[in-house]
Amino acid sequence: MYDEYGPEKILELYDPKTKMRGILVIDNTKRGPGKGGIRMRPDVDKEEVFRLARAMTFKCALADLPFGGAKSGIIADDKKISTEDKKKIIKAFARGLKQICPSLYVAAPDMNMAEEEMRIFANEIGDPRACTGKPADMGGIPHELGSTGIGVGHATMVGIEHLRLGDNLTFAVEGFGNVGTFAAKFLTEKGLKLVAVSDSKGTIYNKDGINYDEVFKIKQETGTVTNYKGEKLKCEDIVGLDVDILVTAAIADLINENNWQNIKAKMIVCGSNIPMSKEIEEKLHEKGILVIPDFVANAGGVISSYVEYMGGNVESMWREVENRITTNTKLVLEKAKEKNIKPRDAAMEIVKERLA
Ligand code: NAD
Repeated sequence: MYDEYGPEKILELYDPKTKMRGILVIDNTKRGPGKGGIRMRPDVDKEEVFRLARAMTFKCALADLPFGGAKSGIIADDKKISTEDKKKIIKAFARGLKQICPSLYVAAPDMNMAEEEMRIFANEIGDPRACTGKPADMGGIPHELGSTGIGVGHATMVGIEHLRLGDNLTFAVEGFGNVGTFAAKFLTEKGLKLVAVSDSKGTIYNKDGINYDEVFKIKQETGTVTNYKGEKLKCEDIVGLDVDILVTAAIADLINENNWQNIKAKMIVCGSNIPMSKEIEEKLHEKGILVIPDFVANAGGVISSYVEYMGGNVESMWREVENRITTNTKLVLEKAKEKNIKPRDAAMEIVKERLA
């Protein structure tokens, strides 16, 4: 757990009155205060919080943001506590962090924590810079605007240019939630042909093309994309379809030992976190398939958080997401090509330089 980056501080919090128990891991603050969300779950532990904090250290460094990496957890079952008790627990957690927030830690929403919880947190600390993901009336920039998915779209465009894939490209999107919908919309608007999309109910494949607005409407009205016209397949079947580009935007380990050899795509853009292990990524690299790693492609959300933290508006957020994702993806892909290494290894070299 301990290495050249951190973790610098691990704080365990307890408030006897509310029985609040929490954990904060500040992994690394070389570039600025540690940035990372608050996760509320009954079984969240130090190890999990640390791993997530470390991922933030790398993601913020690669996005070239003046933030370090951190993460926190509140040990509570969101489904078993009342709204009133949840509020008291968040307030107690905020009071416990008052001396170091936002100087060393800037929070954000994560599992079971959303914008109203950020309002409570920031108000209790008494500083709007204590967290991002706040409601719009407090200067917040909601993630629901699609910063991550649009960022994934920008990373994809850089990959297309890098590989000189040309025109008339087809793509598939695994997952049709926040990240998947915005990535699909962005890329169809850029002229790419969406031929497959999946959600938790399965995959729909239509080689004549899937109309984004129609599939979005069907998802909203019927709860699943699989009611769109086309061939209905299992969720995992999206991996082996005949497409130029596969965008991942749902589960971890989508691409694994059992299916990596079926991949026909020339490029995989990781919108989701850890859609494959490092070993699988290595195998795909050897096969000549370009994989744009998660912490390169899906940093749009944290870039949006940075703009909110700096007091920027929605327009400046879009500019920052485009500039930073485009610049950093280019940097990673060029370095990978030059040194004949995987994009992940090139990205880690950049991270190391920026954390040195
Ligand atoms: P979401 O909950 O909005 O959407 C998830 C989608 O995945 C849903 O459409 C769901 O039906 C679908 N899904 C679930 N199981 C599936 C399966 N087996 N096969 C295909 N689809 C399945 O989540 P999100 O915010 O879009 O996040 C998606 C991924 O992106 C996660 O890995 C998340 O950690 C990562 N991520 C999200 C953000 C962000 O800002 N939202 C930022 C960075 C990384």
